This record gives sequence, C-alpha cells and structure tokens, in this order.
Amino acid sequence: MTQFDYRARLDRAVVEMERRNVDALLISLGSDLPYLTGYKAMPLERLTMAVIGRNGEAVLVVPELEVPRVEPLPDLFEIKPWSETEDPVAIVAALAGAPRTVMIGDHTWAVFLLALQEQLPDTRFVSARPLTETLRVVKEPAEIELLRRAGRSADTVAGLLAEHSFAGKTELQVSHEVSGMLEGNGTDVAGFAIVASGPNGASPHHEPGDRVIGPGDAIVIDFGGTVGGYGSDTTRMFHVAEPSARYRQIHAVVLAAQKAAVAAVRPGVSAESIDAAARSVIAEAGFGEFFIHRTGHGIGLDGHEDPYIVTGNDQRIRPGMAFSIEPGIYLPGEFGVRIEDIVVCSESGAERMNTSPREVAIVR
Ligand code: ZN
Ligand code: ZN
Ligand code: ZN
Repeated sequence: MTQFDYRARLDRAVVEMERRNVDALLISLGSDLPYLTGYKAMPLERLTMAVIGRNGEAVLVVPELEVPRVEPLPDLFEIKPWSETEDPVAIVAALAGAPRTVMIGDHTWAVFLLALQEQLPDTRFVSARPLTETLRVVKEPAEIELLRRAGRSADTVAGLLAEHSFAGKTELQVSHEVSGMLEGNGTDVAGFAIVASGPNGASPHHEPGDRVIGPGDAIVIDFGGTVGGYGSDTTRMFHVAEPSARYRQIHAVVLAAQKAAVAAVRPGVSAESIDAAARSVIAEAGFGEFFIHRTGHGIGLDGHEDPYIVTGNDQRIRPGMAFSIEPGIYLPGEFGVRIEDIVVCSESGAERMNTSPREVAIVR
C-alpha cells in the first residue's frame, strides 16, 4: 500500500482544513480512511477513527483486536488502540481537544456522531465531504494506472463474452461466469455483474435472475471489479442471433450519444455539459424520455463518487478526474441498450480506460 504518497495527501488535507477554518478532521469508515492512511476499516460496531489536527498531527484510534490489520506509517500517524472496556468516543474527544469546528466523515455511524456531540457540546460538526472530495476527485498518476489496469481486465472479459454462448443459460448463471472471468483475468475482486436479458434490459439496475436467455434476446451486461482498490465499470451489448432493425437503430443512437459525450470531455467544461452532449443526441433521435438516468458518475476507491455527470452539476472538469460515460435507452416491455466506458480527463481530452468494441456482439 506504500505506492501512494500518504504524507502529501495528509499535507493537502491540512491545507484544506486551514482554508476552511476547521480544527479537527474525524474520519471513520468508508474510502476516506484508506485514502488518507492506507487502512480500510471493517464496518464494525466498534469505533475506528482517524483524528487529524490542524497542526498535521494524526492519530488512528483502533479497536485493539484490529491493530494487527493496520499497516503502521509511523511518520504519518500514531496508532491508539482501545480495549474492550474503554470508551473510544472519550478517547477521540480528548484527542480532538476543544475544537470549535470539526469535520466528520460521511460514513461515520450516527451512534458515534451523537455520542461525540454529547461529549463535545460546544463543537460544531460539519460534513467532511467537501474536503475529502477536493482531495480525492483528481486522481494521481498511480491511481490512474490502477484504473487503467482495472479497465484492461474488464475489456479482456468483454472480448471473452463476445465469443461466449448464452442461449439456455439463466441471467444469474451468466452473472457468475462474468465474475469468474474478471477474477481470472486480472481483477482482484469482482464487484458486480448485471446481466439483463430481453425486456429485463429496460431496467437499468436489473438484478440478474432465473430468466433463461434465448434467441432474439438483447443482453445488457454491466460489470466491474477492483484492482488495488480502484474500480472498473463497463457495459457492453450482446444479442442472441441477428437483432431487429429497431434494435440496430437504437444501438446506433446510444453509440452516437456515448461518442458525443466522450468527445465533449476536456478541462474546463462543466459536468452537466457532458451530460447534455449525450442527452441531445438521444433526444434528437426521439428517445429522450427513455434515457432515464444521468450520463455518468465518478469512480475511484468508490464505485460511485464525484464528479456526477448530471444536469444541474456545474462542477468544472479537471485533468485527472475519472468518471463513467454511460448513456442508455430503455424501452419497457422490449429491451434496453446501454454503452459504458470509464474515461479520465487529460490535458487534451478524454482518455478511455475501456477500448473493447462497442458494437453489439452477435452471440449464440
Ligand atoms: Zn448504474
Ligand atoms: Zn456500470
Ligand atoms: Zn457506471
């Protein structure tokens, strides 16, 4: 885990704390903790919390039994184990001192925030998300390299699926096969594999079930996993036997929308303008009402994170931001089409993390 410069991250966190006039930063579960310390806590009922002061001093308060799992970074933070009979909230409150303003991580159990508020009655608690988002939204080269590797693994699986046989299998069977393919081809941990066949494709987050795939089915496969903690997320279309002219037409519209959105990515544009680039292509083709979700979401240590590529988000895209571009058209009772790649904004525009063919693959 020492491939990242945690010192630099912590220094940036302290700069942001000063800028926002925050006295302490408290980070518990979720991805902010591994981002800042390299340690990912299990979502236990026992409190794990990094206490970061404005002077840059950092203490990781950890249940004693979890200490063996922490990779110590002695120059960065002190480890403060607490035993089963101690009150970890009192330890955090003492370490925080008498702060006026505390930023607290979004993924802190409410029970601990409530206890902290009781023990620090004069402290104002605000969400740490604006600060951690500022740090995490622009990826470092080492993070982009992991996204690239995750994307390559997903592309390998897309290639295998184009040669795969589907007819007679259930969606769930295929979903398990996709997960196995990911882990057999460079992905550390398979995360999800949506397999939506025929009319089920009209539900973007369809839960793969016991529907048996057969001739004439369009199949949406949306899958991903992680490499070194960083995610892949791609969607490709498959069709058992020749698709109809109507399917071909709609696939072409979604593909054109995806291309237009990727082409719109460059430093300085707003997130919503990328969404608009995809949406206008679909609307002009007459299918606007069937594109029922945002165009994309950021990706990194979390599968969905900032920036969100959605109408109303005027956040400016900067080099190093990583996000999906995944327009779709969903026709209830018929089928759905979605095409998804992860891209990273570079100085000159989008770098695609996925390069597998986006045409529909005709399968058995
Ligand atoms: Zn989704
Ligand atoms: Zn996806
Ligand atoms: Zn996605």
